[in-house]
Amino acid sequence: MKTRTPEEGLTALTDDAERNRLLAEMAEQSTDMISRHTPEDWRFIYASPAVTHLLGYSVEEIVGMSAYDLYHPDDVEDFRLRAPTVNYDRGLYTHTYRFRHKDGHYTWLESTSRTIRDPDTNEIREILVVSRDATHRIKADKANRRLARVLESTQDLVIFVNLDFTISHLNEAARVALELEETDYSSSALAGFLTEKDARQLMQEGFSSASQTGYWRGELTMRSLKGGRIPVLLELLAHRSLHGDIEYFSLVAHDLTEKKAAEEQLKQYQADIDHASRLVTMGELASSLAHELNQPLSAMVNFLRGIERRFAGKESLAWSDIELPITRSIRTALRAGEIVHRMMDFTRKQEPVVTELNLAALIRDMIDFCESMADRHSVRLVFEIDHDLPLVLGDRIQLEQVLLNLIVNAIEASGSPAAEQFSTVRISVAKDKGRQLRVQVKDQGAGISEADMSRLFDRFFSTKQTGLGMGLAISRSLVENLGGELWADNLPEGGACFSFTLNIAD
Ligand code: ADP
Repeated sequence: MKTRTPEEGLTALTDDAERNRLLAEMAEQSTDMISRHTPEDWRFIYASPAVTHLLGYSVEEIVGMSAYDLYHPDDVEDFRLRAPTVNYDRGLYTHTYRFRHKDGHYTWLESTSRTIRDPDTNEIREILVVSRDATHRIKADKANRRLARVLESTQDLVIFVNLDFTISHLNEAARVALELEETDYSSSALAGFLTEKDARQLMQEGFSSASQTGYWRGELTMRSLKGGRIPVLLELLAHRSLHGDIEYFSLVAHDLTEKKAAEEQLKQYQADIDHASRLVTMGELASSLAHELNQPLSAMVNFLRGIERRFAGKESLAWSDIELPITRSIRTALRAGEIVHRMMDFTRKQEPVVTELNLAALIRDMIDFCESMADRHSVRLVFEIDHDLPLVLGDRIQLEQVLLNLIVNAIEASGSPAAEQFSTVRISVAKDKGRQLRVQVKDQGAGISEADMSRLFDRFFSTKQTGLGMGLAISRSLVENLGGELWADNLPEGGACFSFTLNIAD
C-alpha cells in the first residue's frame, strides 16, 4: 500500500473535510435527495433532509437501511442486470426505479450515482447518489405513450407537419390511406398529398388561419401516392412553444369516403322517389289529360274532314276555301303538342337547376294544366295575384311538382265527379314578410282532422285508397331545400289552406 507524506495526508484531509462540508451544505438545501451508500449492499451512510419529503423517513431512520430493502421487486433485478432503465455514462449511472415510501406506496425516483474510489487503492469506497422524484415525468411519459398509441390506432389520418410544410410524422391510418411505406414520407411536402386546388386552399387559407387563431377546419380531397382520391374533413392545429412561437402543425383528417358515398346514394334515392312521385301525380292527372288530348284530336279530324268534303268532286279549290280549317288544325295540333311536352318534361328524370323564375306565370301554367281535371271534379280554379311580384329562386320542375301536388290534393279534397254544385279552389301569390313570396292553395273541402294534422307531412301517410302518401313529404323537402317553408292550416270558414314560401331572387 502506497503511503502518503504528512503534507499529502493533511491536504487530503482538508480536501475531504472541505468537500464534506460543502456537500453537506448543498445537500441540506437541495430538494433533490443526496445520499451516500456502502458499495456492497448499498446501505445509507448519509441522506440529505429531502429524504423525508421523498420517502417519508427521517434522516436518522434511513441511515443504516439498505437500498435493496426499498426497491420495488420488479426494479431491483433491472438494477442488478443493468437493464435499459440503467444508463452508464462516463462514470455516472442514471437509473429510474421505484422505492417504497415509509407509508408503503412506491415512489418513482430518478437517480444519478457515482462511485467514489480510494485514490490509492482504486477500491470503491462509497457510492454517491442524487435522486429526484420522477413521478410526474413517468406519468407524463405514460400519458404520452398512451396518446401515441391512440394516435397510431385511430382510423383518422394524423399527420404532423413542419414549419416548411413537410411531413414529419404520419400515423398508421395515414400511411395506409396515402399508400406509403413507413419510410416514404420523411420530409415529403404535404401539398403533394392534396389535389392542386385544395393544396392551394390549405396553404393560403388553412395555415394562415391556424397560425392566427390556432385552428382551421375544412373539407378537402387528399391524394394518395398512387393517385387515389380521399375526401376528408380536415382539422388543422398550430402547436406553440412556451414562448408562443409555432413549433409545428398537426392535421387530423376524417375520411369521408363512406359518408360521401352514402350521401350520394341518398340523393339518388331521393331523386328516384321524387321521380316516382311525379309519375304518380301524372297518373292521377292522366285520365283528365287523355280527355284533354282527345278534344283537339277530334277537332283536327273535323277540320280535315271539312277540307276533304270541300275537295269532293272538284278539280280545283281556292286557298281561301281551306285556309281557315288548315290554320285551325295547326293551332290545335300545337296545343295538343304543348300538353304532351309538358307531360314529358314533368316526368323526365333530370338534375335540378335553380334559376330565377316568374312564380305567377308558373302558377298560371299549372292551373291551365289542371283545368280539365278540376272540371271533371266540378271544381273552379281561381287565381289571385298581387301586382309587380319579384322573381323567386327555384327549379322549375320541382316547383311545378309542389304546385301540382297541392292543386291536385285540393281538387280531390273539395269536389267529386258527381257533385252538382261547383266548389272553388283559390290559389294566390303575394309578398310575404322578409324577402319571400307566399303561395296559398285554399279549398272548400272537409279540412284536416286534428289527428291527421301532425302526420300530414310524414312519408307514406295517406287517407286515400290509392294514395302513395309521398306528395306532401316530398313537396316540403323540396321547398325547404330552396330555403322556404311549407305548412297546412284549416280555414275558419271550412276547408284546408296549404301555404309555402320561397326566397326572392336578388
Ligand atoms: P296522397 O295524396 O298520395 O295521399 P299526400 O302526401 O299528397 O299523399 O297527402 C297526404 C294526405 O294529406 C292525404 O292522403 C290527405 O289525407 C291529406 N291532405 C292533403 N291535402 C289535403 C287537403 N287539401 N285537404 C284535406 N286533406 C288533405
